[in-house]
Amino acid sequence: MNDLLGRPLRNLRLSVTDRCNLRCEYCMPEDDYVWLPREDVLHFEETSTLVDVFLSLGVDKIRLTGGEPLLRRDVAALVAMIAAKPGLNDLALTTNGVLLADQIDALKAAGLGRITVSLDTLHRDRFKALTRFDQLDAVHAGIAAARRVFGRLKIDTVVIRSVNDDELIPLIEYGRSVNGEIRFIEYMDVGGASRWSPGRVVSRREMLETLTRHYGPVTAVDEPGSSAPADRYALPDGTTFGIIASTSDPFCRTCDRSRLTADGMWYLCLYATRGLDLRAPLRAGLPAAELSALIARGWSGRDDRGAEDRLALGDRRAFVPVQDLLRKDPHLEMHTRGG
Ligand code: SAM
Repeated sequence: MNDLLGRPLRNLRLSVTDRCNLRCEYCMPEDDYVWLPREDVLHFEETSTLVDVFLSLGVDKIRLTGGEPLLRRDVAALVAMIAAKPGLNDLALTTNGVLLADQIDALKAAGLGRITVSLDTLHRDRFKALTRFDQLDAVHAGIAAARRVFGRLKIDTVVIRSVNDDELIPLIEYGRSVNGEIRFIEYMDVGGASRWSPGRVVSRREMLETLTRHYGPVTAVDEPGSSAPADRYALPDGTTFGIIASTSDPFCRTCDRSRLTADGMWYLCLYATRGLDLRAPLRAGLPAAELSALIARGWSGRDDRGAEDRLALGDRRAFVPVQDLLRKDPHLEMHTRGG
């Protein structure tokens, strides 16, 4: 099942809630938000039905995200429903880690395969300034729990100039100490990032220069055929890390991911301003074969290259600069459509 640019439908990011228990400056900086109406949020059975359709069309990787997915009541029950499905090769979850220590055993028992924890700083005061909550200890506890249960994990760090760009090396060292592979993410001008500006982006080139100055030559790890967003690198001692250069060098040409929001809107690109409503036909009782035809039509007409289009803009500012617009349509927000 390929789109207009020959990209397969493989990777589904499933946002299970638009709510979050942090207010990261680069994602949810405002004082108040318009939330999805509760009655619109899909029940687990409804999500499971849609997942079956996606799997039948070629999806074999699913990542649960949000918002903060661990805020969704009994999310392990959804993990168990999805993990049992034939055809699924990879079931992962991205979390800010705050509630992870309490839920990790249930998630593992339910069949979760992998975990990624977002962590942008090792300094308590910075963490509080960046997220508005004093929860760094809880995140460390979550990471320790993930290590205990899964053995290893990934740690995602959004790098922002003059905020945490002096922590590349401490974060690599921290990753080593917890068996976590760090992935540095370039600050993206996604919906919700209303304080984004080009000057705050630290590019992959700059990150590699910093790491090379400290550790010596960094080599690219060859991963032929990979559609992963992160380019992986190795330090001279073999420690690996990733960089997601979505802003300076987008990976649209291999992007095989689409996103389903908690209320059943399907987006073909992180930057898409319109999605396809799957909740209405699902709740109207459309048979699986017709839902499948709807999704297949959507994917086969896909020509989105949102991040490349953004890069081509001469004068680049925040993607949705006007807060009123975000208030009118919460679907434009990164925390709604899932990072
Ligand atoms: N709450 C979960 C978490 O913290 O991982 C999952 C949702 S969060 C939206 C998913 C990822 O998107 C996080 O790693 C976050 O750092 C990243 N993200 C959010 N806004 C971003 C931005 N403006 N640029 C780059 N990454 C961003």
